[in-house]
Amino acid sequence: MAVNQESGFLTTKVSDFLGWCRKYSLFPYPFVTACCGMEYMSVSSAHYDLDRFGAAWPRFSPRQADLLMVVGTISHKMAPVLQMVYAQMCEPKWVMAFGVCTCTGGFYNNYATVQGIDTIVPVDIYVPGCPPRPEAVIDGIIKLQKKIQADHHSMFGPKSDERN
Ligand code: SF4
Repeated sequence: MAVNQESGFLTTKVSDFLGWCRKYSLFPYPFVTACCGMEYMSVSSAHYDLDRFGAAWPRFSPRQADLLMVVGTISHKMAPVLQMVYAQMCEPKWVMAFGVCTCTGGFYNNYATVQGIDTIVPVDIYVPGCPPRPEAVIDGIIKLQKKIQADHHSMFGPKSDERN
């Protein structure tokens, strides 16, 4: 294998490989607050087999997770907790907004509810629905995997403050 240092051939191939590894070794942290949690449990069941995507094993410590799945309505009182959990995760890390409440606030258009979690943390993938069907969540995971593979320009992944 020839190494052309001017074009960064080797660096590009290593980054491709790291992107491939990362997209098939996601460790989700489920931040579950409301009724979407039922659908999270459904999609996590054996029937939907998230092991196919390397994303089946939830971690309940943010320090061991790289995919923050925000599942359910987020109130302004809860917002600082979500931001702290996000801050405790190591780079590279990704965020999924699971359900319309997390995407936009949903029908909780009131003073108590965060009107979209992207106002408080960077979001990589939005999965709308009330609640989203498991197939929609799986579609979101596949889209996120494509994004992870494409975000390989840095060997250490994108910095969270470079996104959105
Ligand atoms: S999107 Fe619907 S199911 Fe999910 S938390 Fe909001 S109200 Fe509940």
